[in-house]
Amino acid sequence: MANAAHKYVYFFGQGKADGKAEMRALLGGKGANLAEMTNIGLPVPAGFTITTEVCTYFYANDRKYPPELKEQVAQALSRVEEVMGAKFGSLANPLLVSCRSGARDSMPGMMDTVLNIGLNDKTVEALAKQTGNERFAWDSFRRFVQMYGDVVLDLKPKDKTDPDPFEEILHHKKEKAGVKYDSELSAAHLKELVAEFKTAIKDRTGHDFPTDPLEQVWGAIGAVFRSWMNDRAIVYRRTYGIPHEWGTAVNVQAMVFGNLGDDCATGVGLTRDCALGVPGFCGDYLINAQGEDVVAGIRTPQRIEVSLRKEMPQAFDQLNGIGQILEKHYKEVQDIEFTVQKGRVWMLQTRSAKRTGFAAVRIAVDFVNEGLITPHEALNPKRIPADDLNQLLQPIFDPKAKKAAQAEGRLVAKGINAGPGAATGKICFHAADAEAKWQADPNVELVLVRRETSPEDLRGMKVAKGILTAFGGASSHAALVSRQMGKVCIVGCSELVIDYHAGTVTCGGKVLKEGDDISIDGFTGEVFAGPVKTQASEVIQVVLHKSLSPESSETYRRYAQLMKWVDEARRLRVRTNADQPDQAAEAIAFGAEGIGLCRTEHMFFDHIDEFREMILAADLPARQAALKKLLPFQREDFGGLFREMAGLPVTIRLLDPPLHEFLPHEGEAQKELAAKLGLAPQTVADRVHELHESNPMLGHRGCRLGIVYPEITAMQARAIFEAAVEVQKSGVRVLPEVMIPLVGFLAEFKNQEAIIREQAEAVFQERGVRVEYLVGTMIEVPRAAVCADQIAQAAEFFSFGTNDLTQTGLGMSRDDYGTFIGYYREHDIVGNDPFQSIDQDGIGALMKLGVSGGRKTREKLKIGICGEHGGDPSSVKFCHQIGLDYVSCSPYRVPIARLAAAQAAVAEKNAS
Ligand code: PEP
Ligand code: MG
Repeated sequence: MANAAHKYVYFFGQGKADGKAEMRALLGGKGANLAEMTNIGLPVPAGFTITTEVCTYFYANDRKYPPELKEQVAQALSRVEEVMGAKFGSLANPLLVSCRSGARDSMPGMMDTVLNIGLNDKTVEALAKQTGNERFAWDSFRRFVQMYGDVVLDLKPKDKTDPDPFEEILHHKKEKAGVKYDSELSAAHLKELVAEFKTAIKDRTGHDFPTDPLEQVWGAIGAVFRSWMNDRAIVYRRTYGIPHEWGTAVNVQAMVFGNLGDDCATGVGLTRDCALGVPGFCGDYLINAQGEDVVAGIRTPQRIEVSLRKEMPQAFDQLNGIGQILEKHYKEVQDIEFTVQKGRVWMLQTRSAKRTGFAAVRIAVDFVNEGLITPHEALNPKRIPADDLNQLLQPIFDPKAKKAAQAEGRLVAKGINAGPGAATGKICFHAADAEAKWQADPNVELVLVRRETSPEDLRGMKVAKGILTAFGGASSHAALVSRQMGKVCIVGCSELVIDYHAGTVTCGGKVLKEGDDISIDGFTGEVFAGPVKTQASEVIQVVLHKSLSPESSETYRRYAQLMKWVDEARRLRVRTNADQPDQAAEAIAFGAEGIGLCRTEHMFFDHIDEFREMILAADLPARQAALKKLLPFQREDFGGLFREMAGLPVTIRLLDPPLHEFLPHEGEAQKELAAKLGLAPQTVADRVHELHESNPMLGHRGCRLGIVYPEITAMQARAIFEAAVEVQKSGVRVLPEVMIPLVGFLAEFKNQEAIIREQAEAVFQERGVRVEYLVGTMIEVPRAAVCADQIAQAAEFFSFGTNDLTQTGLGMSRDDYGTFIGYYREHDIVGNDPFQSIDQDGIGALMKLGVSGGRKTREKLKIGICGEHGGDPSSVKFCHQIGLDYVSCSPYRVPIARLAAAQAAVAEKNAS
């Protein structure tokens, strides 16, 4: 007997499925969950899934299928026919199927779908007879021809000016018939439409619309596989880090109808609200409609929680029950698609629901409190992506400013609150324009205002601060995508009258133009004309400003509960990069456990005259005189930091940037400085010229400065120890860690270390008090990583300066890589921006070398990171994996780094 053919097709139906939830890599999310729902006894129309392996094969073999596929699809189709008691092409009981994509991770709306496959001039009559509803049958047929034409035959518009041929025909038909809505067209009109659509297809493609249901199915399957590589799907994958190699599965499933009459409906539901996380089954539905109508955002649907219970009590109860079964089964909030056909509920999809950061935190914490999951499970990055915590720290509207805007009559409309937060910005009507404006000025604040959004708008949505749509409900494309992106969003704001041609939006008696200011409150759905001032989030008000009590903020309480679990779970410590006491105080409120980097040069900007005097000094005595003036300022600054940190470690880095950065480059400014210092203007100009560097990043900076001008290091070290002694004497513990920048050679380190220790001893002798301290180094040039074993002979700690390590390791300047990195990312040369997320293969390998070298010499060597990557979740995870002791990041990233560190620890525990 021949070997059994490789299985490419998985059937589901009648309570039994070939697949299951765990098989999402092979069956895609939708296929795996349809199988799972079938297996747990939920009502799912029969169908089958063509695996993602076929997609991979398709692209690897010049868009051909594996030879076995044809037979396997034929067999699965006949099983569907059997289970449904219907047949393809039958004139008594015709089978109709849908064909949908389904990737491993859901990519809402990015790929194509075809519904009502199986209809032709004969079966449409059979369907009319069978349902006793001629209008329904012809409406289904005209939708099918339209969708098939768009998706399979590629007639859909290519850009915003390209008209959709079907929409144009439909528009004319409605005009001629004197009606406003599609639903007012009669069966006869729909019949005419089908004929006109078919003619349009013939005219444009030269081919007749296919009548054979099997040919239609294969056309749809091919289109769905092709849609994996459409532009918007590629952009989406790039944005969310989904590998292109995964491929999509294809699901072919018997149709059920939500548009057979008023005892039918279609909807999308959430087992809990996903904007704020409030418990309770909710969502959108439309009576007598087909699934795409809800998601497309063309008709504003009704709310399940408001009216379905009254309109269809049995269906509501059944759905509510299914929602609870699903939440318990998956231990996750589910986003479901359903159809009610003649009062009977059918499940078409279930998947983990996308949610805002607010909802993510609330739902995860509530699930633990409800006993559904453990705290460790709550920390799973799939439940709360660490970056999403950022949303809890984002601004909200200042209540006074909002009230004033209301009083001024600027509240112009109210829609459905779909993405929390406050956004103020300039109106932009087209996604492509938003993108262009952002490219011209990345700081531009835009609110994208549209009738509805579609997946084509993804790029524009990414750059907008907020999104406002006139149509669509809480599950429309705009709402889903905004939630995932963490954008402020209002949908279904039906008072808006948008005129794309005129570039205006009219609401509340006001006409706003493109470029005018508009403000949207994503918590309440309120829309204001003009700008509205924003203020700190509730969490910030509680932890930083202390202007709100913990008890009065539900958001804060859940945040606090979550962060407690976070701190119990993580091993990695989290410090902050701060140069001033107020920054340090903020970071401590966010949970920082020390300062990982104080860039001392930032302190000089407040005493720039003295610092410039030091740079311009003609000889050593003159330089020392200037340094003497700087010493008390430095001492005071360090004292402030030590007091604020009250015994937590404070890493102070000695002067790093090249000196020319502190001098004026324009003639006028040079003259002014010369006058101030009593020098000839030429002296200043000459010194600027002398300090000019062709590549300052590789020039006279870092420890190279302190080696050539040891008196600078001596002054800084003295200021540190004088401050430390003073603060310790006042009864506050101090833990200074002096850090030497840009070290590549052990000799460099030793040179600077000697000066630091000499100053420390001198101060201790003078003041009669000793302070515990460490002298360590940044590891930020490749040689330091490679020779870490040597450097650790003297260095008491390492801190990876991954900003410089990335620029020196990749040979890519951190100041001008922006000119090409966008192109690199678009073309998949690099997966991520290496200055945001550690290049783990390259720079990461240098780091590993640094860790192993350092600890070979000094087993317990304390190692951290203070480059910008210290606040990036995937980099934090990497730092955990390679055994660092801490990460250090900007104050507002501290909660995110804490969560990412906990997630790394839990993932490691789960893997062992
Ligand atoms: C670094 O290089 O990573 C670093 C923290 O130092 P700076 O950014 O100040 O060069
Ligand atoms: Mg550096």
